[in-house]
Amino acid sequence: MRDFAAELDQRRDAGLYRVRRHMAGPHQPQLTADGRPVLAFCSNDYLGLAGHPELIAAASRSLQDNGVGGAASHLICGHHAEHHRLEEALARFTRRSGALFFSTGYMANVGVITALAGKGDTIFSDALNHASIIDGCRLSGAKVKIYPHSDTCALAALLAETDGHKVVVTDGVFSMDGDVAPLRELAALCRRHDALLIVDDAHGFGCVGPDGRGSVLEAGLNENDVPLVVGTLGKAFGTSGAFVAGPPLLLDYLVQKARSYIYTTAMPPALASASCRSVALVEQEPQRRRQLDRLVNRFRAEAAAMGYNLMASATPIQPIMIGDAHEAMRLSGALERHGILVTAIRPPTVPAGESRLRVTFSAAHTDEHLDRLLDALSRHAPIQVPRRALVGA
Ligand SMILES: *Cc1c(COP(=O)(O)O)cnc(C)c1O
Repeated sequence: MRDFAAELDQRRDAGLYRVRRHMAGPHQPQLTADGRPVLAFCSNDYLGLAGHPELIAAASRSLQDNGVGGAASHLICGHHAEHHRLEEALARFTRRSGALFFSTGYMANVGVITALAGKGDTIFSDALNHASIIDGCRLSGAKVKIYPHSDTCALAALLAETDGHKVVVTDGVFSMDGDVAPLRELAALCRRHDALLIVDDAHGFGCVGPDGRGSVLEAGLNENDVPLVVGTLGKAFGTSGAFVAGPPLLLDYLVQKARSYIYTTAMPPALASASCRSVALVEQEPQRRRQLDRLVNRFRAEAAAMGYNLMASATPIQPIMIGDAHEAMRLSGALERHGILVTAIRPPTVPAGESRLRVTFSAAHTDEHLDRLLDALSRHAPIQVPRRALVGA
């Protein structure tokens, strides 16, 4: 048998060992972690909806009306009216013909990719794509060509040398970097090379684009340019689940073929009811996105002035690049001693030598919350400037 214990020791020595914190209470900036109060800057609840009273009310009503369990898979007798209502709401929200509701984003990516590419086909995947896309590619049995991050020239060359059915898949907003894929160029390339483009906009929906409708609409692209978009409901929407939106033919194909859609119990209908309410709030409350923009702009100006190495991101994902995994853990630990929770992201989630603190903002953060983060950061900053000089910089 393999020496599992030795492998874990190796992980510890490399600064890559992971532990789970025990959180209590609803998800909001001020949390209890391992019994201690912390101010968190690491959740994906970008719009501050995870504990919203209207979502709780929608779920509670639905629980009374529809019970708890999903009871069966969608193709047996689990496809509930509430799931269907959510799919219609998501189609309207994304300005697409239709939407198909999956239990998680991981399952959506695995299901979509394995259904639409297989043996003999080729998938082109951005080097920084999410792990669920990578796993979908591996499981599909297709040949996978990984192109350097957002490098459309490299992708063009790879597409040109490849025959047969081609699928290009990319994050819309990259989950660990916060930058946006060059979607217009990707759409043009895919049209030229007759490749199917899939964009996973897990971090774009709710935050980016007109009324938060995502990075594909922000780029001025429609269903003809980008046939399929994947979104998750566990991030800006504050609930749980995922969807893929696109034309009827492809959605019908997925219902027939996507194994992670077919062979799993449908989500509790109450979660779909809550998500329906959430889609409406995302559309109707632009002030949440405005608050995010204000926080992000202030953070970028002040953290950069302290000498922190920020990344080219205008989204609520604002990583501080550190490099060494131990260093990233040290800064994360130092912040935690000031009551600030920002987790260090290390390999294999990010490439070796690119460990970082993934700071994320939520519309539920206040200016006072941001003050506390900046104050803690200033005490460990590469450039030591009196904190007072930075305020209002
Ligand atoms: C979080 C994430 C997923 C997975 O979504 P879940 O609903 O959490 O399973 C997929 N893709 C990207 C880019 C993500 O960030």
